[in-house]
Order: sequence, then C-alpha cells, then structure tokens
Amino acid sequence: MEFAEFAAVAADIESASADTAICERVADLLGDAGEDLPTLVRFLLGRVFPAHESRTLDVGPQLCYSAIARAAGPNVSADDVEAKLAEIGEIGAVAASYDLGGQQGLGAFAGGTDSLTVSEVERRLHDLAAAEGEGSQETKLETLFGLFSRTDPREARYLARLVLSEMRIGVGEGTVRDAIAAAFDVPLAEVERALQVSNDYGLVAQRAAEGGAEALGEIALQVGRPVQAMLAQTGTVGEAIDEWGRVAVEWKYDGARVQVHYDGETVGLYSRNMEDVTDALPEVVATVEQRVAVPAILDGEVVAIDEDGNPRPFQQVLRRFRRKHDVAQAREEVSLRLHAFDCLHADGDDLLDVALTDRHDRLVEVLDSDTTSDATASELWLCEDADSVAAIEGDALEAGHEGVMLKNPDSVYTPGKRGKNWLKRKPDVETLDLVVTGAEWGEGRRANLLGTFELSVRGEDGYATVGNVATGITDEQLEELTELIEPHIRAEEGTAVEVDPAVVFEVGYEEIQSSPSTSSGYALRFPRFLGIREDKDPADADSQSRLDRLVADQRG
Ligand code: AMP
Repeated sequence: MEFAEFAAVAADIESASADTAICERVADLLGDAGEDLPTLVRFLLGRVFPAHESRTLDVGPQLCYSAIARAAGPNVSADDVEAKLAEIGEIGAVAASYDLGGQQGLGAFAGGTDSLTVSEVERRLHDLAAAEGEGSQETKLETLFGLFSRTDPREARYLARLVLSEMRIGVGEGTVRDAIAAAFDVPLAEVERALQVSNDYGLVAQRAAEGGAEALGEIALQVGRPVQAMLAQTGTVGEAIDEWGRVAVEWKYDGARVQVHYDGETVGLYSRNMEDVTDALPEVVATVEQRVAVPAILDGEVVAIDEDGNPRPFQQVLRRFRRKHDVAQAREEVSLRLHAFDCLHADGDDLLDVALTDRHDRLVEVLDSDTTSDATASELWLCEDADSVAAIEGDALEAGHEGVMLKNPDSVYTPGKRGKNWLKRKPDVETLDLVVTGAEWGEGRRANLLGTFELSVRGEDGYATVGNVATGITDEQLEELTELIEPHIRAEEGTAVEVDPAVVFEVGYEEIQSSPSTSSGYALRFPRFLGIREDKDPADADSQSRLDRLVADQRG
C-alpha cells in the first residue's frame, strides 16, 4: 500500500467524530491491507514496533524538527520548526505546513524519488532504530530527512506523528481490537485473549486474517515475550469472604512489579509496563539462572532490602529499575529480593487458565519458598474468616511489608485486567477513637496479658459497646497495653474483666454493621487496633451520635 493511501485513510478517520464510524473505517482499512496488515495496525496506534518489544526509534523531538527543517529547505531552521510548533501546538500540522517534497529534486537524498509505500516507511524506520554509536544521530537525521523529503503535506503530517509516537487520530487499542473482530468476522473475546497473551496487535490482526478464530486460539504465551500484568482493585475482607467463601491471602510487598522469563538458558526481566529491565537487575538474573531449572514465566515483586533482609522503601527499587549505567555501583547501594507470587508458564505448560491455587503450587515447584534467599515464592494462605486474614496482615505489617493482597483462590490469570479477583485492602477511610471498657486475659503463653479489648462509644448515658478488638496488636504492644489498663480493672469474672473508662484506642474498620449483641446497636466489621490516643480522655472519645452519622453516610 502507498503511504499516501494510509495518510488519506488516517485523515478520514481523524475527521470522523463517531466511534462507530471510526471503527468501521479502521475495519475497512484492515480488510484491504493485505500483507501490510501488521504494519498498518501498528502505524494506526502510532507504533513502529510491537508493544512487547524493547526496540524504539530513539528519535527525540529535536532530531525530528531538524529533519523537517532540512526537508523544508535552506530557509528553515530547527528553531523555526520549534517556534511554529509552539504556535500551532501539534507536530503533524507543522510538518504539513511546509513544502517538504519540493526538496527531493535537489538530489540531497540518495534513497529514490518514487512515492513512499507503507512497507518502505517501516523498513527505513527499522534501519533508523538500528543505528547505534558514533554518528548514529546523523544517520537517523539523514534517514528521516530522506523520508520527509518524499512526502506531500498529508503524508508529512502522519509521518511526523508516527516518528514521535503521537498519532492522535482517535484510534486507541480498543478501536483496533473491535476493528480486527469486525474486519475478519472473529469473536471479540478471541481477539481479546490473543492480545492479552501476545501484546502484539499486528500479529493478532494477521492471524485473524489468515485463519480466523482458530488461528487466534493458537496464539500462546511465549517465553521472552512479556504479558500485561494482572492488576488489583481495592476491596474489603468482608467482600472477599462473602463473594468467594474463602480467600487466598498473600503479603503485599512494596516494591516494583517484575515479570521473569526464563527459557532454559537466558533470563529476561520486564517491568509492569513491559519495559526490558534485565540489564538493571543482574543479581535477579543470576538467582533465577541458579534456582529455576525449567522454562518458566513468573510474576512477582522486587523489593529493596537492608543488610538484615528487611524491606526498604519502594523508591529504592525504582532507582535500581531506572539505572542504565553504573549498575554495579547501584547494586552495592541497594540490595534486592524477588518475591514471586504467580506462575504463568512452567516447563511447557501455559497456566493462564489454571486456578490460582494450582498456579501457586507450580510456582513453589519452580522456585521454592526459601525466604532467606534472594528469590522466594511468596506464601499463600487460604482463610475462611476475617480474623485469620487479620493475623496474616499483622505479620506482614510487622515484617515491614505493605499489608495483604486478597485473591480469589479459583480465579484464572487475566493479563492487563483490573479485575475483581485480586483485591488490595481499601485503606480505612475513617477511624474511630473508642474507650476501652473491658478486656480478656489471654491463654497459654499470653495468660498474663490482656488480649481482647471491649470498645465503647460515649452514649447519652454512660458508654455503649461496639464490639471487641484483638487484631493489629504486637506482643510488645500487648505488654504495654496490659500495663496501662490493668490498674483500671474494676471487676473480674473468669478471664473477662471490666475496666473503668480511662484509655482511648484509635481503631480502623471496614464497615459498621447493625448488631443485636452490643449496647450501641452496632458492631465494627474487621476492627483493627491502630494505636493509643494518649492525647485523648474518655470524654473526648467518639460518641454514639457520630457512630449514627457514620452509619447514615455509609448507607449513602
Ligand atoms: P497497587 O500498585 O497499589 O495497585 O497494588 C497492586 C500492586 O501490588 C501489584 O501490581 C504488584 O506490583 C504489587 N504486589 C505486591 N505484592 C503482591 C502480591 N502478593 N500479589 C499481587 N501483587 C502484589
């Protein structure tokens, strides 16, 4: 296909306003594309390479301005182009405003004077991307100049935008996905799946054109080709248990997402945006090479650790991910540990459609859960009640991690989706300051420590209970709380004690529920001890009327 034809269709699409019209035009273009199909699909999205590839044109705006200026003739400088851009605001319109094709007669370019085809543009841009080292900027400039000097204004508009990866014709990934389904009469779900697995719009379009749904179904994971990461939504423990019956709980690590690809010989590491970060993380590469024996794709989080193995703030990891030079020095400054939490492929088996718990079993087979080493498979606990989740969360926080992730144990891996099967806990929106009015002695080794604390709001007449809190409290804190509360014990019966109002706790919770067993009429769902409000007396604690208001707000 001539590049002029692509530019004409792009202009037509750009002028269409309705999404359906855009999709139809894209579908027509794809249907007529023939062997240029994969290239056209990428061009429509403003890409020269598939999204999973780490190759880039590496052309900065300045280089592009210089090429346009050179093609525009001796009276135009890169500064003029930039000034015009500041005025017009868009590089395509700037490029289209010059008579670039007029320079080809000057013989400045030895690349031919025929009209450009889509495949030639692609080929020349690939050559340009390959230019490296000394003189590469001049080579890139020459190539771009050569291309621009063969364009008419409309071609120049879309070439400039393509080079700077900003197509702006109203065609997003969703449009291309829908257009592939429409053009080749294949189910949208099949197109979507193939895209999730391959991340290559060009490839998916080509397979759909060649072999329909069946050919799409054959697109499989490929070790070395990153997949979009599955994402999490916010949610509550209550929702998770109500919805799934039981919850798979893991620690939530505060680092950077990484996808590990091992083909049996080499390791590739990719960031959450599918950038190739292999060279920045040599020790992760070495550990995977050492510990993983079969081809695999693992998903996980890389965390910065201190000399005792405790997690450091996630900014430290980002410094490592971004580092292109002096990696050895960066490595001395920031040590890393990989916590793998999922397994997408193991030893020839694609596992995307396998349940989380089974994927986790494969993960542990591939990479054992030796928590003292540089790479470990994260532990996964199956819980049926909020208290066990809270206990795991308490351990995670105590170990310096961010909290917990709640996952549907039966769910499949859905790349790129922010689905409901992975939940990160919603932060407590409002906390309550509640008075301790009772407690219970612990059992066994905690027999001389108060463990469960009864909480109350200020009522119109004395205090009204809202339930108990037992979670979120470390052993050390239990000792401190026992010391603080013991002097206020008024009466004891068995292990239960009544306490005079003296101490105020700050308590987080997920929800306030009606309850027949408390004197306020409400109980906190999933209450967590956040701290002692040493600055508050019982008289400053939250009141029954605030509780009533929060309940009303909650009901919306
Ligand atoms: P957020 O970035 O707050 O949306 O939380 C989701 C992110 O938490 C994921 O993209 C991962 O990078 C990270 N994460 C940490 N631990 C886990 C885990 N056990 N399972 C899934 N994601 C995790």
